[in-house]
Amino acid sequence: MEALFATERIKELAPILKQFVLEELVPLEKDHLTRPFKQTEIILQEKREKVKALGLWGLHLPKEEGGQGLTLCEFGQLSELMSLAPYYGQYSFNCQPPDIGNTELISKFGSESIKQQFLQPLLEGKIRSCFSMTEPEFPGSNPTRLGTTAVRDGDHYVINGHKWFTSSADGAAFAVVMAVTNPEALPHERASMIIVPTDTPGFELVRNIPIFGETGEGWASHAEIRYTNCRVPVSNLIGQEGAGFRLAQERLGPGRIHHCMRWIGIAEKAFDLLCKRAVSREMEEGVMLGEKQFIQGFIAESRVEIDAARLLVLRTAHNIDLYGAKATRDQIAGIKFYVANMFLKVLDRAIQVHGGMGLTDETMLANLYQHERGARIWDGADEVHKQSLALSILKQYGLDIKKKKANK
Ligand SMILES: Cc1cc2nc3c(=O)[nH]c(=O)nc-3n(C[C@H](O)[C@H](O)[C@H](O)COP(=O)(O)OP(=O)(O)OC[C@H]3O[C@@H](n4cnc5c(N)ncnc54)[C@H](O)[C@@H]3O)c2cc1C
Repeated sequence: MEALFATERIKELAPILKQFVLEELVPLEKDHLTRPFKQTEIILQEKREKVKALGLWGLHLPKEEGGQGLTLCEFGQLSELMSLAPYYGQYSFNCQPPDIGNTELISKFGSESIKQQFLQPLLEGKIRSCFSMTEPEFPGSNPTRLGTTAVRDGDHYVINGHKWFTSSADGAAFAVVMAVTNPEALPHERASMIIVPTDTPGFELVRNIPIFGETGEGWASHAEIRYTNCRVPVSNLIGQEGAGFRLAQERLGPGRIHHCMRWIGIAEKAFDLLCKRAVSREMEEGVMLGEKQFIQGFIAESRVEIDAARLLVLRTAHNIDLYGAKATRDQIAGIKFYVANMFLKVLDRAIQVHGGMGLTDETMLANLYQHERGARIWDGADEVHKQSLALSILKQYGLDIKKKKANK
């Protein structure tokens, strides 16, 4: 916990939440890889009820939607603690992506009828959702290029397209689909976000895509989806027609804080395992692994890097609270690539000090690495964020590359 940002509310909530995570969730994760997913779902249902009873449900929400009205900076600190149980933490508190992003999006931009029909059951944890933007045929790094279309037909949109990496689609009740509604408009104003219930005729979950050879189920899935003549009412549009790109930016700003704080929690977990290994593995008689200077380097560097990342993310969250996501764009880009690289490096060091065992499922390290390697790709690849930050800095020095391109 970073004392600099610990408000009274955080001092009150953090110990209760941490105790719940350590006592109720961490022991369950020992059998995560061997227990059938359906059984895990049932167990976690009970845990979610306990979270509600503790008054810790939906911590990211404003008070009028049943949350605690926390600032993003406050919520971020709790999100880190949830991640001490990397598999079950966020889900038990109903703060798991992509639902957390979708609830924030709909809460901010959805109409009253959308809120009634889709947001309410999502907030209550009765349904799950997914976010369907990336397509196999177009670069996800440039979301102004999309093949999926939504054509107006009376009071309906007819949606056709092909998506993949729609996380958590397996078992979700609805998808927020990014589709082109205004093909003649400027590139950033062509697409819209439209809710498509997954029982709509024409919605086809083609497969759950294996990641590093593992095919996830339920909320841990990443699906390929085909939308074939899916008819949904025009009232399923979120915000304005053509506002999809802007809403995506709004959705991803706070979302990156959530991810970064989750990664910091995982980094702490890996760091703990690294240190435990350093003091328990005897390399020569009476000489522990932690007495080797290489390993001391791992420990010292990891400690400082995790702390630096936390400070950066909390500063960014604090600035979003004060000035909004748009004004904090550069800092958001910075933490996305910095923290993703930091925690993967710490995970890698922790794997290294475990030797061969680090690659097995004896610890959760290998599986976490496999699950989380995507952090440097999804929600904007490293290179995209670095480019965006660098261009913004260069603009302050008089080099406006975007303008230069537009004038060509
Ligand atoms: C585990 C996982 C979960 C995901 N979940 C979702 C989800 O729920 N919903 C959803 O819609 N999408 C999701 N995605 C998709 C993800 O957002 C995209 O993979 C990402 O945006 C990159 O798009 P792409 O795969 O099409 O790669 P491309 O856009 O083809 O980019 C390929 C590579 O090119 C490089 N590159 C890109 N732009 C530049 C540049 N300007 N300069 C230099 N190099 C560059 C980067 O290294 C990048 O990795 C998920 C992906 C993964 C791996």
